[in-house]
Amino acid sequence: MKIKSADFELSAPNLRGCPARPLPEFALIGRSNVGNSSLINLLAGRADLARVSDQPGKTRLLNFYLFNATWRLADLPGYGYAHVSKQERADFNQAVADFLTQRESLLHTCVLIDSRLPPQPIDLAFLEWLTGERVPFSLVFTKTDKQSRSATMTAVDRFKQAALRDLGLEPMIFLTSAKTKAGRTELLQHFHDLMA
Ligand code: GDP
Repeated sequence: MKIKSADFELSAPNLRGCPARPLPEFALIGRSNVGNSSLINLLAGRADLARVSDQPGKTRLLNFYLFNATWRLADLPGYGYAHVSKQERADFNQAVADFLTQRESLLHTCVLIDSRLPPQPIDLAFLEWLTGERVPFSLVFTKTDKQSRSATMTAVDRFKQAALRDLGLEPMIFLTSAKTKAGRTELLQHFHDLMA
């Protein structure tokens, strides 16, 4: 799928504030700092659409980006913040939960996983919740440029085994890098197929 345009649409604090016009949507979510913003920029083919930052826990809103004027990416607040109060955390967890379980135009969710880490309990717990809620998802491994191909494949394998053990399923997997642009074509093709 060729990207002809990609624009920020709006930020919403909760489900009610989300865009009203129904368009196919894909959600991106992962641990804070996993690379959500970089992935949005990679897919958009722009360096500056979403704000990339080294400071985790900045985005507390659901951010919508309109692609080709026909579909959206929903950038959801990450989980696993260290510096946010419990009250705030509960707030955006609720907004995220509402969005993932009730948003009618949501087609698919991409869960971002840092390719350099061993399987993280918080990621597996989140996938378990998604599975229980019957939210369809794929796994998008990020930052694959930061290590060797074999180290990435080992991490992916370990995650696959953990997912099979904990969830009893084998999710679809994408390997991406905002630096080398790896995975861009495959992920856009996946979205295209889901919209067809
Ligand atoms: P977010 O908090 O999930 O939106 O994560 P960001 O996209 O802001 O990225 C967090 C940090 O990881 C930033 O310093 C990015 O430059 C870096 N980063 C994200 N993706 C990649 C990648 O694919 N390769 C490399 N080398 N760095 C990345």
